[in-house]
Amino acid sequence: MIKPAPRGTDPETIRAEILEKLAYSVGKDPAVAKRHDWLNATILALRDRIIDRWMESTKRAYQAKSKRVYYLSLEFLVGRLLRDAMSNLQLTAAFTEALAGLNVDIDLVEALEPDAALGNGGLGRLAACFMESMASLDIPAYGYGIRYNHGLFRQKITDGWQVELPENWLEHGNPWEFPRREAAYEIGFGGQVVPGIDQNNRHQRRWKPAEKLIASACDTPMVGWRGRRVNTLRLWTARAPDPIRLDAFNSGDYAAALSESNKAEIITRVLYPADSTPAGQELRLRQEYFFTSASLQDIIRRHMQQYDDIRLLADKVAIQLNDTHPAVAVAELMRILVDHHGLDWEQAWEITRAAIGYTNHTLLPEALESWPVHLFEHVLPRHMQIIYGINAKLIADAQKSNFSSDDFLASVSLIDEHNGRRVRMGQLAFVGAHSINGVSALHTELMQQSVFRDLNKLYPGRINNKTNGITPRRWLLEANPQLTALLNDAVGANVMDDATVLTKAARFASDAAFQQRFAAIKRHNKDELANLISARMGLKVDPAAMFDVQVKRIHEYKRQLLNILETIALYNAIRAHPERPWAPRVKIFAGKAAASYAQAKLIIKLVNDVAQVVNNDPDIRDLLKVVFIPNYNVSLAEVIVPAADLSEQISTAGMEASGTGNMKFALNGALTIGTLDGANVEMLEHVGSDNIFIFGLTAAEVDERRRIGVDVVALLDAVPELRIVLDQLGSGVFSPGDANRYRPIVDSITHGDWFMVASDFNAYAAAQRAVDGLWRRTQDWTEKSILNTVNMGWFSSDRTIREYARDIWTVPTP
Ligand SMILES: *Cc1c(COP(=O)(O)O)cnc(C)c1O
Repeated sequence: MIKPAPRGTDPETIRAEILEKLAYSVGKDPAVAKRHDWLNATILALRDRIIDRWMESTKRAYQAKSKRVYYLSLEFLVGRLLRDAMSNLQLTAAFTEALAGLNVDIDLVEALEPDAALGNGGLGRLAACFMESMASLDIPAYGYGIRYNHGLFRQKITDGWQVELPENWLEHGNPWEFPRREAAYEIGFGGQVVPGIDQNNRHQRRWKPAEKLIASACDTPMVGWRGRRVNTLRLWTARAPDPIRLDAFNSGDYAAALSESNKAEIITRVLYPADSTPAGQELRLRQEYFFTSASLQDIIRRHMQQYDDIRLLADKVAIQLNDTHPAVAVAELMRILVDHHGLDWEQAWEITRAAIGYTNHTLLPEALESWPVHLFEHVLPRHMQIIYGINAKLIADAQKSNFSSDDFLASVSLIDEHNGRRVRMGQLAFVGAHSINGVSALHTELMQQSVFRDLNKLYPGRINNKTNGITPRRWLLEANPQLTALLNDAVGANVMDDATVLTKAARFASDAAFQQRFAAIKRHNKDELANLISARMGLKVDPAAMFDVQVKRIHEYKRQLLNILETIALYNAIRAHPERPWAPRVKIFAGKAAASYAQAKLIIKLVNDVAQVVNNDPDIRDLLKVVFIPNYNVSLAEVIVPAADLSEQISTAGMEASGTGNMKFALNGALTIGTLDGANVEMLEHVGSDNIFIFGLTAAEVDERRRIGVDVVALLDAVPELRIVLDQLGSGVFSPGDANRYRPIVDSITHGDWFMVASDFNAYAAAQRAVDGLWRRTQDWTEKSILNTVNMGWFSSDRTIREYARDIWTVPTP
C-alpha cells in the first residue's frame, strides 16, 4: 500500500499548508481573505491530515477482518468540529501559532464554524460522544443518520417569547463532508406485495413499491483521541431517481416537472424538533425507514463485498439502534435476508437478533413510538406482513409460556389493540434484539418494571444497563483547557487517555494552594461567560456571584418551573429581609422548547418576565439576577458548563432516563442540586453524599402519589411561600396588564400537580438554603467542587463504550 509521507507538525509547515489551501482551494489571496476564508483554508489543511489516518483506519479494519459496529441514530448533535479534530490530533498549539503568524486569531475563526445541530438534545449528543469514544478506543464503527438541510431551529427571544428561525448550517458549504456517489441505494415506499418464485423455485414475496427514491451518502470523518483511529459518520440525503421530468417541463408544467424531486427531497429537509415526544407524522415514518433501509443496504453491501456469505453477518456486524427511531430495522433486515438473500425465516430471525441491539431512552408512555397500522401498511406493506409474522411467533411463545393470560398477550404484542390498532416500535425493537439496554441504573430498573415488564418475563436476560457518559475530550479538555492542565499536572498523566485516573487528584482537594488555582480557573471561566452575557444581552452580571445554572431542553418533567418559582420566592424573601446574609446568585437558564409545546414556551416567557422584574429592582442590587441566554446549543454549552458553580438537575424522579448535562457540569466542578433521578443516583454514589445536594421525592414516592392523587389544597397550606408565588402569577405581578398569561402554569400545579412541583417545593427550597450556607464557606465549597471533578472520571463515554463493546457488540477494546 502506498503510504503518504508523514507531515511535519511544526507551525511553519502548517502555515504553508493553510496558505496553499487558501490559494488553490478557496481561491483567495491572504491580503483580501476574510475570516471565513481562513476558516475554510484551516479546515481543509487539517482535513488532509485526517484523511491520511482515515484511509489507514478503514484499511486496517478490512485487513484484520474486524467486526464493525454500526450506530443507527436519527440524531447526531455534533457541534463544531474544528477544535475537536485539531485537539484530538494534538495540533491545537501548532495551528494556533501558524495562524497567529498570519495575523489571524484562531478563536475568531473557529467561532464562524456552524454548530452542526442534527439533533434535539441529550439523545443526539450521546450519539456524538459515542462516535468520538469509539474512534478513541479504536473500534471500527460507522454512525448512520440523516443529513438534514436544516438542523434544530435557531431560537430568538422576542419580548420574552421564543421565536423559531430556520437553521442553515449548509448555507456556505460544508468542508468536512465527502459526497459518496458510489454509495447510493433505492428506497421504496407504498405499493404492493406480490407472490413470486425465486431461483430455487421456492415461494417468495416481492415488494413492488409505488414510489422509489435514492439515498446517497455524505461522509464526515470522526477523529479519535490522539488520532488513533478515524471513523465515518455517514449521513443520507434523499433525491428523486429523475431530477426533472422533461416531458412535463417541455409542455410548460414546471411544477409537475419538479414535483418528484421536491417530494423526495422533503424527506431529508428538516430535523423534527420534538424532544421526548414522538412526532407522529407520516413524514417522520418515512424519514425513519429511509435512513434505516439505506444504512442496512450499505452494511450488507460492505459485508458481502468482503465475505460473500450472508450467514456470517452477525459475526462481522453489530447494529445498535439509538432508541426506536430505527426500530423498523428489525423488519427491514428480515425482508432483505428472506426476500433478497433467500434465507428461511428461522435462519433470518437468528441472524437479525444476533446482529441487533436496542437502546431505550424513555419510559414516558406518551413518548413511546407507535404507528397506526393502516399508515404503516400504506407506507411499508411488506414490513407490515413481516411484523405480523414476527408477532405470530411471539404470541405463540407467550401462549406456550407460564404467562398466557389475555392481559399478558395484549401487553407483549407488537400490535396495540387499544388505541385504534398501532404498531409498537419499542416491542418490535425488543423482540428483534439480543440486547436491550437502559441508560442509567435507575432507568434500567424502571424499564424492567414498566414498559418491558412482560417481555422481560417472556424473554429474560436480554435487558442490561449501560449508564451514559460524556467524552472528556470535548467536555473537559476543549471546554476547559486550564482545568485540564491543572489536573494533568496533579495526576502526572494525561487524563484524556483514562479519565478514571482523576481520582488520584483527590488528595489535593484540601490543599490550599491547589484550591486557589482551581478557584482561579473557575473564576476565569465565569469572567468569560459574564462577557458573553454582556455582549449578547447587554446585561452585567457579577462573576463573583454564584452561577446557578439550568440549561437543557425546556420540558415540564425537567422542571425549569420549579426553579423559576423558587427564584420568585427567593426574590420575595430578599425583598422582605434584605439584611439577611444572602448568597448573591445569578440564575442562568437556556434551552429550546419544541415549537408545538405551548406550556414549555410559556415557561420561557415566565423566566424572561421574572428577569425583567428582578433585574430592574434597585432594592435587590447584585443579590439576584435572572438570565435566559438564547439559542442553547453545543457551542454555548461549551462556554456555560465550565463557568457553573451550581448545576440544576431537578427532574421529577423517574422521568429523566439518564441525563448527560449533569455529568458535564460535575466534571467541570459544579456542585449538583438534584433529585434521585437518572444518572444523578450514580453520581451521588461516585462523588459522595457530602458533595451533592439531593432533595425531593423518590421515583417510587412519585409513583405512589400519582396513584393516590395529590391534595393540592392541603399541600399549598403547607407551602405558603409557593402559594404567594402562585397568587403573584395569577394577579399579573410578572405580566402587568395580562393577569391571565400564567393561568395555564398555575393550573398545572393546582390541577393535580403531575410533575410534583408543589410536592417537592419545600425540599427544593431547603436544599437551596443549604447551598447558600456552603457558598459562604468558600474553601469548603471549593473542596467539594474539586471532589466532584476528580470523582467524575467514571462517567467518561469511554467507559460506557467499553461496556457496550464487551457486553453487547463483542468487539475488542485496548
Ligand atoms: C449535553 C447536552 C444536552 C443534554 O442535557 P441534559 O441536561 O442531559 O438534558 C442537551 N443539549 C446540548 C446542547 C447538550 O450539550
